[in-house]
Amino acid sequence: MVESFTALDANLDALDRQGTSAQRVTADAWLPIMQRVLARSEAEGAQGSALAINEADAILLSTAQARDMLVTVAIVCALASVALFLLLYFTLTRPLVRLAQWMFMAREGQPILAGKQMVSELQILHDAAVSLSDTHLALRRARNQLEQLAHADALTGLANCRSFQMQGVQAVAHAQRYTSPLSLVVLDIDHFKKINDLYGHEGGDTVLKAVGHYFLEAVRDADQPVARMGGEEFALLLARAPLAEAVLVAERMRLAIECLQVVMPNGKALHFTTSLGVAQFRVEDVDLNTLMRRADQALYKAKEHGRNRVEADG
Ligand code: GH3
Ligand code: MG
Ligand code: MG
Repeated sequence: MVESFTALDANLDALDRQGTSAQRVTADAWLPIMQRVLARSEAEGAQGSALAINEADAILLSTAQARDMLVTVAIVCALASVALFLLLYFTLTRPLVRLAQWMFMAREGQPILAGKQMVSELQILHDAAVSLSDTHLALRRARNQLEQLAHADALTGLANCRSFQMQGVQAVAHAQRYTSPLSLVVLDIDHFKKINDLYGHEGGDTVLKAVGHYFLEAVRDADQPVARMGGEEFALLLARAPLAEAVLVAERMRLAIECLQVVMPNGKALHFTTSLGVAQFRVEDVDLNTLMRRADQALYKAKEHGRNRVEADG
């Protein structure tokens, strides 16, 4: 810019010396304009440079922070690796290596001098094995508990609907393969809503638990899964039982539950009844659902015919 200015001044001097008066007037008019343009461009240039410097500073700062973080992470990883290595070395590798050496020496008939040390290494190995086995046992128990929880009804402790379906499918397959009889009993508590209304939800739950307890005490058997299917409805599969036998079992259950006396949360004793539907698996039944539908229809009939009774399908 300064060079252009100097050139311009030189030109103007030349014009003063040799130019016409008209040329001088034009040059005089342009001079202040060009001076303003020059001043403005210099100001903007300075502002732009300041911004660029600020941005460069910010980039430098964030780069430095990232580098610091990277260094910290690298140090932490290195320390953790060293700690892990030392732990593995002292609790596993070293005792195993020493044990192997001693076994080798014993096999070669060489005297083993490190008696005390051997005992301590063996102790470390023994402790590690015990703790591993404890952990394994605890894990197996936890897995079994989880499996049980997944298949059990939380309120009554009976099988839940999902578990019943799984066992039912197997029972149906078995009945089809061996053409052995298989019956299903479905049980529904009568007027359960009224029990809830009179004694509250807690009272209703007490009755459900009493029915669950009765089933657990009286019927439950690996061959005959009893389940709470939901709400106040229960189901029992009777393997190897034809319809007539299943009806007798159902009647016995109805009577036993009718005789139950349940102590409600308010201290009062309650008697209640149930209705039951029974169906036997037939050759033409497609699957467990067909059998359940027919047992439900029989249950519906028992409700229609006055409740506290057993009805059989067909
Ligand atoms: P029915 O004699 O025709 O079987 O009539 P019901 O009153 O027994 O049957 P309904 O289907 O009218 O009512 C069932 C009630 O069971 C309604 C619902 O609030 C209640 N219920 C469902 N699950 C539970 C539960 O886990 N605990 C309690 N306390 N009540 C439940
Ligand atoms: Mg009911
Ligand atoms: Mg019901």
